[in-house]
Amino acid sequence: MEKVKKTDDEWRSLLSPEAYKVTRKKGTEKAFSGEYNYNKEPGVYRCVCCGNRLFSSKDKFDSGTGWPSFVRPLEDDSVTTEDDRSFFMRRTEVLCKKCDAHLGHVFDDGPPPTGKRYCMNSVALKFERAK
Ligand code: FE
Repeated sequence: MEKVKKTDDEWRSLLSPEAYKVTRKKGTEKAFSGEYNYNKEPGVYRCVCCGNRLFSSKDKFDSGTGWPSFVRPLEDDSVTTEDDRSFFMRRTEVLCKKCDAHLGHVFDDGPPPTGKRYCMNSVALKFERAK
């Protein structure tokens, strides 16, 4: 898979200030503030930075956390994970495999069938409704 690489200035000019802060500076949107938290429409969630296909509405569930949550990524080429030890916590960061955008974190307290909870920032995603 070909990686998407841009300079910090390029990302800043392409993205909204909120999306830039979350995806390129590892920020977190406020809980219950994102536009996809309650979204139940059928479709695909793409990376706001590069358009990579990340998650399916079929794998979305209501975690009650205030962030859109999924039991699995859409494809093998969707995301990668990294150890995150910031803020005195041990978490697993989730990044877009294509452009390294910070998307959120994954936890082991999700529902069946995977037991995973991919906790994402709405602002890092771009929803494409199924036609
Ligand atoms: Fe991306």
